[in-house]
Amino acid sequence: MNIGFSLTTEFLAGTPIKTGDKALLDKYQSPESFLETLKERGVHYIELRNVKPGMDNKLVLDAVKTVRSAGMDITIHGVLGENDTGKSFFEIFPSIAGILELIPDHPDRVIITVHTYSDKTGHSDELSERTIKTVSRWVELMDKGDLPFNVAVEINRSKGIVDPSVSCEGVMRIVEGINHGRVGVCWDMGHYYTNFKNGVAEKMPGEDFIKKVIHTHIHGIGEQGTHYPVILPEAGFLIPYINKLKSREYKGVYNLELTFDKFFMDTPADAAALKSIDQLKFILSMEESEGTESV
Ligand SMILES: [Zn+2]
Repeated sequence: MNIGFSLTTEFLAGTPIKTGDKALLDKYQSPESFLETLKERGVHYIELRNVKPGMDNKLVLDAVKTVRSAGMDITIHGVLGENDTGKSFFEIFPSIAGILELIPDHPDRVIITVHTYSDKTGHSDELSERTIKTVSRWVELMDKGDLPFNVAVEINRSKGIVDPSVSCEGVMRIVEGINHGRVGVCWDMGHYYTNFKNGVAEKMPGEDFIKKVIHTHIHGIGEQGTHYPVILPEAGFLIPYINKLKSREYKGVYNLELTFDKFFMDTPADAAALKSIDQLKFILSMEESEGTESV
């Protein structure tokens, strides 16, 4: 089973900005020693959260070096920039230009997850078209440069802005509009469940969506919404989702995506991380019939 865990690029580079990250670094002294702890617990992938196209090159490089020197692989939470013109992918996304030599030469490409364009006002169709245009350009240039990347379009939480990615249909319209082998879906299960609870999503996504899932974001729900630790039975909504992917022989990463700042005053980041990993492993080890009806 491929278990991943999201950490901020700044934490991984040893220069944290967020309060939860700072507390974590104070306790572990170096990002490497926290990665060792995660690795011992069964995590093999670390997702850099979030990498903007214009971010400092060295910061991203330092973060990737930390992950690779721990013997782990990366995934990237990217961001669609304003610029989609350039002759190479790295002209559009310069901040990750330096990491190629650190990516191991194995058949699995590095997943870059993106949110679609969204806006406070405007038309969903236009944002959808813009996303299709930008990501199409990305993958065209990835092909041209023979780059080891795939792109996952994430299903977002419906939060009152204009966002074409808050429904499976909206995400699929974009993925099918791009229609390229490098592009699939990131199923953020916490977002999806929140949308279901709010009456804007079905109990389970349709097969067309499930078939296109190449990456996941997994988190619990808490007082301030999403990105809380995975703790059963509250996070039991994850069980049928994960069973669904298992039954479709999903080969991608089960990536835990927690926002430490939301809860670290009550639950230290490392305790939350380790508990979530254990609970995810428990869910992954369940027989398919168990818990399927528990939601
Ligand atoms: Zn997510």
